[in-house]
Amino acid sequence: MVKEVERTFQVGSTKLHVLKGISMSLEPKQLVMLRGRSGSGKTTLLNLIGGLDQPDKGEVFFHNYPFHLWNDNQRTEVRRKEIGFIFQSYALMPLLSAYENVELGLRMANSPKALWKERVLHCLDMVGLTKRMHHRPYEMSGGEQQRVAIAKAIVHRPSLLLADEPTAELDSQMGAQIMSVFRSIIDTEEVTICMTTHDPTILEVADHVLEMVDGRIK
Ligand code: ATP
Repeated sequence: MVKEVERTFQVGSTKLHVLKGISMSLEPKQLVMLRGRSGSGKTTLLNLIGGLDQPDKGEVFFHNYPFHLWNDNQRTEVRRKEIGFIFQSYALMPLLSAYENVELGLRMANSPKALWKERVLHCLDMVGLTKRMHHRPYEMSGGEQQRVAIAKAIVHRPSLLLADEPTAELDSQMGAQIMSVFRSIIDTEEVTICMTTHDPTILEVADHVLEMVDGRIK
């Protein structure tokens, strides 16, 4: 939940007022899309919700944790265990296989090692990549790489999944596949998903669409 958040960036002598008092909340097990023009502040808001960044004013709560009052280390610890991130450009390790990339999500969350194999295989199955588990990123299509990134982002059972333009580099068919994977993981993993997008063709899949205009929600 974010309440009256503001975020400014100082660039040289110019002060950019990027978020101008935004309040919103995410309901459990919903798919929420943030849309808006380039530069309207979507990524900045996503980063605040996920505790990657801090507001200048206002409050950011993740469950009952007051992210706006916490330091980087405190937020990172919660983030590693309870939030998953997906980026436009997949952010996979190029020399690791799909299996090893997904496993990294569990390493980072300090999850008990005895449970890793079963959980990694389950997540690869959920995104339909069991047969590609030994492939490295360069041996997979963009859509397959993004599905590895999704498996990696949910492998530690986060309650919140944040995705920054996850379909931007994919054609419409692969984009639709990603949306159907999102839908099925909301049901099976009980996760809430908040994503940014420019793509009008996927908006109908959302439970809620929030439109950002010049640092505000319209
Ligand atoms: P896009 O759709 O192009 O990804 P966006 O809506 O996600 O855009 P943001 O990435 O949130 O927009 O950026 C909003 C504004 O804030 C932009 O003008 C950007 O240049 C500026 N901005 C974002 N992060 C920083 C930063 N760390 N330092 C300075 N300016 C920043």
